[in-house]
Amino acid sequence: MKCIKCDKKAIISYPVRFCKEHFIEYYLNKLKETIEKWEMFNKDDKILVAVSGGKDSSSLAYALHLLGYEFEGLYINLEIPNYSNFCEEKVKELFKLINKKLNIIRVSDYGVKVERVRNRPRCSVCGTIKRYLMNRFAYENGFTVLATAHTMPDEVSFFFMNLRSGNLNAIVKQKPVLEGKGKFVKKVKPLIYFTEKENLTFSLINNLPVCRLECPYAEGNTQNVIKNKIYEIDKDFRGLFNQTIHFLEKINIEVKDEEVYECIKCGYPTSSKDIVCSFCKIKEYFSKNPS
Ligand code: SF4
Ligand code: ZN
Ligand code: ZN
Repeated sequence: MKCIKCDKKAIISYPVRFCKEHFIEYYLNKLKETIEKWEMFNKDDKILVAVSGGKDSSSLAYALHLLGYEFEGLYINLEIPNYSNFCEEKVKELFKLINKKLNIIRVSDYGVKVERVRNRPRCSVCGTIKRYLMNRFAYENGFTVLATAHTMPDEVSFFFMNLRSGNLNAIVKQKPVLEGKGKFVKKVKPLIYFTEKENLTFSLINNLPVCRLECPYAEGNTQNVIKNKIYEIDKDFRGLFNQTIHFLEKINIEVKDEEVYECIKCGYPTSSKDIVCSFCKIKEYFSKNPS
């Protein structure tokens, strides 16, 4: 199987057959085009890239570095046993390699834990903690853009989750760029057109330090369950991921914006009627249930 651009052996066959060099060229061009098409950031922006140590965010950071962008990294140590510290080491190695500043914060410094809170599963608590801390760190440190490594399968599975819960507001907001407002920093998803396989290939051929462990709490994670089902359907109906992403881009419905208040505990935005944000509720729970 040959590369479509030269006589060398192809190392990837889907979406296109490429050799190592032409795959890197394709990956970087696609990333650059995505950033420019959606005006995600320019070289004057102060960019924060959220990294987890996994193949997706490590590939994003490395590719942005190859494209010449200046940015800092943020690693949130979730303090998950037999997992988070190992991922932290991989992220440190990567940032040493690309010679960029890496910021590390730990959830316990903010009075929270990745554990069940009443009937909320761990992953839901974890999601709230990550979203809140990424935004807060970016805002408090003067970053103008926060880049996350959400991939095409991530976005498509979020879409099905939002569909399942009938959350039209969330579907309408599923765009590659979410503009900043008040204490919400602009959020961008440069990997929105990338598959996990593309990121895995990019990380392997560039020999990137990547944490290959799976989070010990991942079993039963709703998003993963839905994502795996979509992968199954995509085997028989190729293009489901792509079509869904382009469908989401076209959605342009006026929805009534939720009322946003300032959380009475932390001052960050919340749409909760009792004016206490989800993060502060989690924090309050752990202050009352310390064990
Ligand atoms: Fe957090 Fe769940 Fe992902 Fe683990 S699997 S990092 S607990 S969201
Ligand atoms: Zn080639
Ligand atoms: Zn709060």
